[in-house]
Amino acid sequence: MSNDPQFASSLSLPPTSRDTSTILVADDDPIFRRVLKSWLEKWKYSVVAVENGTDAWTVLRAENAPQMAILDWMMPGMDGVEICRKIRNLQHSRYRYVVLITAKDEKQDVVAGLNAGADDYLTKPFDVDELRARVRAGSRILQLQDALLSAQDKLQFEASHDALTGLWNRAAILDTVQRETARHQRTASPLGIIMADVDHFKKINDSHGHLTGDIILREVAQRMVASVRNYDFVGRYGGEEFLIVLPHCGLEDLVAGAERIRLSISENPVQSETEELSISASFGVLSAKPGADFTGYESLLQLADAALYRAKANGRNRVEMAANSLAATSGAD
Ligand code: GH3
Ligand code: MG
Ligand code: MG
Repeated sequence: MSNDPQFASSLSLPPTSRDTSTILVADDDPIFRRVLKSWLEKWKYSVVAVENGTDAWTVLRAENAPQMAILDWMMPGMDGVEICRKIRNLQHSRYRYVVLITAKDEKQDVVAGLNAGADDYLTKPFDVDELRARVRAGSRILQLQDALLSAQDKLQFEASHDALTGLWNRAAILDTVQRETARHQRTASPLGIIMADVDHFKKINDSHGHLTGDIILREVAQRMVASVRNYDFVGRYGGEEFLIVLPHCGLEDLVAGAERIRLSISENPVQSETEELSISASFGVLSAKPGADFTGYESLLQLADAALYRAKANGRNRVEMAANSLAATSGAD
């Protein structure tokens, strides 16, 4: 699951496709560089042209670098073979397709280039049809990789998100609780957990239908996400139950946050297809203070759940604090 804060509470969609149409050309011969650039541009590629190996490496090591590079073998600064080696040592980077250009046509040079990590090679002078065919072959490989990565992103998104609301799903939000609890214990930073449950939701389903129930769940999810900081995590814990994890959130902010969420749900009715429906939710809130003594994340969830149960018993549409938050309040806060 991503730790990217932008992915935290938002109803994010998987990242979209990548740019596979920009090509880096690195050659110290200005005329050759210009000719190559104009051919590639005629074939609708964008071109970044540099004149030495050092500049080529600076461009290629960037995360959003062009995915295809046509590199001269012999260049000042750093030669094409060395750049190939460095590219293949880059960690956590998208694939770069490298075509080496060489005046040498001896077999051992070609083998050395491919062994260093080049995908293909061209020997100078080469004809324009051959260049075009080789660049197309490279584009095909990159587009295939792009399609595979997009499919992988989509699968990862679906495995960790709830299809109805777009929130983190139960498994993902439980992972988050576990991870943030461990961080809280390690770093003594405060941690907030809110368990929420829509009030009388069965009645809404029974009298307005399941589809209206779904509209309400989606709206509740959006109001929750809009009410928390963008590095908080909002998950669908069960049918109409939600779990919100608020890292580095002290007691005061946590109580204010829970109240803000409660009001965002109950203050304005939800517009369904045919009517406006007033809804509310109940909240159990737990503030794990630095140095608080508890045994694992399950006990935190139990405490939050017990507080939620009290919120229901005390009339619904309200926020109740978990017992250990109350005990801690009389402490250092
Ligand atoms: P309380 O105020 O005590 O929480 O009462 P409640 O009616 O909200 O609670 P209960 O647990 O009795 O009912 C929850 C209902 O949520 C029952 C179930 O059919 C419904 N539900 C669960 N998942 C979904 C869903 O994905 N869509 C819809 N429309 N309903 C769902
Ligand atoms: Mg309910
Ligand atoms: Mg329930």
